[in-house]
Amino acid sequence: MRRRPHPIFERNDVSALTNYNALIVGAGYAGAITARRLAEDGNQRVLVLERRNHVAGNAYDCLDGAGILIHQYGPHIFHTNDRRVFDYLSRFTKWRRYQHRVIANLPRDNPQAVPAHKSTDGRMFFPVPFNLDSMKSAFGEKEGERLGQKLLDAYPAQSQVTILELRQNPDPEIAAIADYVYGHVFVHYTMKQWGQTPEEIDPATTARVPVRLSRDGRYFQDAYQGMPLEGYTPMFEQMLDHPNITVELGTDALARLELSDRTIKLDGRPFDGPVVYTGQADELFGCRFGSLPYRTLEFGFETLKTDFFQAMGTVNYTVDQDYTRITEFKHLTGQVKPGVTTIMKEYSRAYAGGAGEIPYYAVINPENNALYARYRALAEQFPSLHLLGRLAEYKYYNMDAIAARALALTDELL
Ligand code: FAD
Ligand code: UDP
Repeated sequence: MRRRPHPIFERNDVSALTNYNALIVGAGYAGAITARRLAEDGNQRVLVLERRNHVAGNAYDCLDGAGILIHQYGPHIFHTNDRRVFDYLSRFTKWRRYQHRVIANLPRDNPQAVPAHKSTDGRMFFPVPFNLDSMKSAFGEKEGERLGQKLLDAYPAQSQVTILELRQNPDPEIAAIADYVYGHVFVHYTMKQWGQTPEEIDPATTARVPVRLSRDGRYFQDAYQGMPLEGYTPMFEQMLDHPNITVELGTDALARLELSDRTIKLDGRPFDGPVVYTGQADELFGCRFGSLPYRTLEFGFETLKTDFFQAMGTVNYTVDQDYTRITEFKHLTGQVKPGVTTIMKEYSRAYAGGAGEIPYYAVINPENNALYARYRALAEQFPSLHLLGRLAEYKYYNMDAIAARALALTDELL
């Protein structure tokens, strides 16, 4: 694994700016894929402006002081059912086969519980998403089996049901299971992550982690799952390494763009080519209608002198603790480094727009969507402007969804 400044990120002579055919703001998935396609398939000269001092957006990874490959902005596991996305990214990386597994870690409140992992300190564990094995861990072998069968009588085997749907089931025993899962998996974690209950947030959010009528203990069930073999950052460096692409790091595009009268100016001159903007939609227009709400995260990294700290990549603290989850990167990356490991605790809070704060999650609800729609309508007044990405579209997109959207937009532009 290597980390050194990549030669493609040298600054270009500003006088050459008028030669660019396309401008991309942001070097995450949305920006990097768009840049590569326009440069390679469209033979356009592409300028990418990135505010941070690195590429890869929130998927950025790097070696920490102890030499452990970490994900600076939270654990990223690639998974998709989209063959086109997988094939496209596979041009820029080989993959490490990896299937993410998560367990909940919570106080043991049931003497019958059979924790999925050895517990010495009054705590218990079960797989998340909650599945038929989690039932046994939570309720004990016999009772877990019986209640599992009860669920299988009500829902097809191998299917999945969201916690909000399960809570609608009129059968008293199924309602009791739903209450258990709600109380032991969802309500506290969701309060920590969103400051709201599962009923108050967008139902699609908790639907990401359904109750499973199977023993499949993987976090994701997609056909293609894995981690870029050398890490995400090298994959992005490969993608952006094209003679038609110039990347300027540490550059806030907002300081160089002007949007007025259906015209976009870059450094004071009209820019006629496509502009793909992957930052916050509100910021692009000076937050003139008000700020879009987001959640931000604080990451607590700890390097420990031990081979491994926990049994798997991510452990969710679903009932107690201030943090939502602990990730141990060596499980994800497969890095072999005896005697040392780095873990990361995630703390969520409202984004206040302070210096250095990063908006990670859009707070999706009808009111905020309506505010976003006003910015979107404004953007549509600029025919060459395209809002693309998790921030610019104010959506909860996984990496593969953004990759698919970047491929679709460039299909159109080409
Ligand atoms: P980003 O990665 O945010 O990139 C946008 C870029 O634009 C940033 O680099 C930003 O600095 C830059 N930018 C913004 N404004 C400006 C400006 N004015 N000038 C210049 N540059 C600017 N997805 C998965 O599929 N699997 C996972 O396991 C997973 N885990 C996640 C964990 C966490 C904690 C979070 C927050 C997200 C996770 N995701 C995961 C989602 C994933 O991060 C996103 O889908 C992906 O990063 C979106 O790419 P993007 O290009 O839209 O945005
Ligand atoms: N969630 C929960 N308990 C868990 C895991 C997830 O309540 O143990 C809920 C929570 O509301 C969370 C959402 O499900 O925000 C989506 O979880 P996911 O793991 O997909 O979140 P991400 O990795 O995107 O932060």
